[in-house]
Amino acid sequence: MHDDNPDWGAIEVRGARENNLRDVNVDIPKRRLTVFTGVSGSGKSSLVFGTVAAESQRLINETYSAFVQGFMPTLARPDVDSLEGLTTAIILDQERMGANVRSTVGTVTDANAMLRVVFSRLGRPHIGGPQAFSFNIPSVTGGGAIKIDRGAGVTESRSFSVAGGMCPRCEGMGTVSDVDLGQLYDETKSLNEGAIKVPGYTADGWSTRMAVVRPSSTSTSGRARVGMNPWTNAL
Ligand SMILES: [Zn+2]
Repeated sequence: MHDDNPDWGAIEVRGARENNLRDVNVDIPKRRLTVFTGVSGSGKSSLVFGTVAAESQRLINETYSAFVQGFMPTLARPDVDSLEGLTTAIILDQERMGANVRSTVGTVTDANAMLRVVFSRLGRPHIGGPQAFSFNIPSVTGGGAIKIDRGAGVTESRSFSVAGGMCPRCEGMGTVSDVDLGQLYDETKSLNEGAIKVPGYTADGWSTRMAVVRPSSTSTSGRARVGMNPWTNAL
């Protein structure tokens, strides 16, 4: 294998016996993509998650204070003779990583931050700094008067703009949650014809009469008022 940087080292696993592993010795090269394949039950997970990642997690947990550790699950040492060259493990699975879709493999590994810099330097045409490639940063523009204290003082008008990468419609979420008004009423029909499509609202029902918007006689703002009491506001 072609190798420009042979000195990155490896995670050296010796004598792994977690679950059905039988004294497995393996060197996992660092800064390489290493894939574990095999039939179901061959011990891929026992080696990767049960041994390497488990010990990495356990070592990280040990760095917290005893007080904090009291709130964390107690992890047993994996059954292995020795693990050398272990680094921080970030465990990803097919589940969503968090409640927020903005958390991706790129954000938790900081790879996104590096990629944003690369894109902003090499991208053609140039559209802005790294923030222009971040879906968390909205574009901002502004302007106004600034006063410069020089001599008698000069007032100048200045403006600025920051090109952010956030999509204004979905705010970087990829999807938009919105009310589809077309599902609530049919604008081609009158109320009497059954314009309201919400279940239970029939054209001749009280629910429809209650929801009828009528202009308020006392309102000075000209805004409509929704009559909610069928006995006083019925048409
Ligand atoms: Zn969008």
